[in-house]
Parts: sequence; structure tokens; C-alpha cells
Amino acid sequence: MTERLAAYAQRLFGLTLTAQQQAQFAQYAAELEAWNKTRANLTAITGIEAIEIRHFLDSISVLSGVDVPHGARLVDVGTGGGFPGMPLRIVRPDLRLTLLEATAKKVAFLRHVADILNLTDIHFLNARAEEAGHMPEHRERYDIATARAVARMPILMEYLLPLVRIGGQCVAMKGESAARETDEAANALCILGGQVARIVPIHLPDVAEPHYLVVINKVAPTPREYPRRPGVPARKPL
Ligand code: SAM
Repeated sequence: MTERLAAYAQRLFGLTLTAQQQAQFAQYAAELEAWNKTRANLTAITGIEAIEIRHFLDSISVLSGVDVPHGARLVDVGTGGGFPGMPLRIVRPDLRLTLLEATAKKVAFLRHVADILNLTDIHFLNARAEEAGHMPEHRERYDIATARAVARMPILMEYLLPLVRIGGQCVAMKGESAARETDEAANALCILGGQVARIVPIHLPDVAEPHYLVVINKVAPTPREYPRRPGVPARKPL
């Protein structure tokens, strides 16, 4: 089954998956299905082909939107079952990855998967983004912050930008509302030190809905009062 994933990764993103990486994706898909049925509601997407395309390929599409330098520090905010962070770490073992997730049960799943896939050195952070953004070891420490299906752009920018160093980038994975949401985030970007770099369309096999990567450059420091207290960004978006 991972032959299909390997063929798509090669064709769409020019990535050659090794036999070990293919085996890791196969194990990951199996664990996702097993935990989804019994322990944690991790994803509405089920079936190997859908997992391969809508989770794995979609996640690694991030690499076609931004240049990720060797050894880059990447934080995936609201990673849930590990998307896009974990597939990115599988295809790019050099990444220094932090998986940030508010729900403890999901973090337990992620630790389990990293363990059985033998992915060492991943940092797990069971916290809210609003808390992590004030922790000295995380604030403005990352080269790249990613997020998929976490919040609308004005809110998401308050989660991501405080974590990124000046010169770093945020990648928000969005659907058809990408351009509209990005326009709505103009005020948040201005306050938090972000600037729109580009919106990159992504085409996945047999997926009709449009996918986009919204790439934001961090161009100025985020003022100390941001992010605001947990829940405030969502209740009162900038
Ligand atoms: N990114 C994954 C994906 O695309 O499959 C999960 C998406 S899921 C819809 C949203 C996840 O974001 C949930 O696991 C939720 O717990 C997490 N989340 C939402 N708000 C958050 C916050 N402020 N800080 C940390 N995690 C958050």
C-alpha cells in the first residue's frame, strides 16, 4: 500500500521515500486506525488510501510551500493525530520537531507512535498555544510554525507568530477560504509582526476541494502581551 504513497510523493513533490520511511508510514496508518476505533477520536478520515492522501501527502505538501533548511526547528500547533508535523519528520529526519497539542490523550497517541516508529528527539508539548507562546524555551524560537484545521487565520496568527523567530515563517494549511481568511487577518498580522508571503495552491489526487498553503513571514517582534490568555484569541479575534 505504501507503494502508492511513495509514487505520489515522488510525482507530486519530487520526494523519494526510502523503504524505512514507507514502513514508518504503514505503521503510522495502522496505529491511527487502531487508536481511532478504541481509544481516541483522532480523525474522521478512515481507510488506508484516504489516510495516505488526506493526511500523509497533504502533510508533506508543506515542503512545496516553504524552503525548510537542514536542521530547522519546526513547531506544529494543534497537531491532533500528528498532522502535518509527524509526516514531515518522517520524510525529513533532520527536522527538530515540537508537536504542540492541548489534549493529553492525543499527546499520548503521538508519544506511542513516535516510540514504535523509532522517531527519537521529538519534543511533545501538552499545552495550549496561548501558554506556549509565553514560555521562554518556545517563544520566538522556531524557524517554522505549521497548523492545519486549528482556527481561522486571525486567531491562528495569535497562536503561531509568537512562537516564530524574526526571519522565520508560518504555514497555515487552508481550504477554499484561504484568501478570504488571510484578508481578515490583516490587523492581526500588523499587530503580531507577520506579513503575507504567498498563497500556494496544492493539488492532491482525487481530492476535489481546493487546498492552499498560506505562508506568512515573521518580520517584526511580537509584542509581549501576545498571545492573550487561553481562550481570548478565539473569543475576541484581533
Ligand atoms: N492538525 C490536526 C489535523 O489537521 O489533523 C488536528 C486538527 S483538530 C481539528 C484541531 C486540534 O487542535 C485539536 O486536537 C485541538 O485539541 C487542537 N487545538 C485547538 N486549539 C488549540 C490551542 N489553542 N492550543 C493547542 N492545541 C489546540
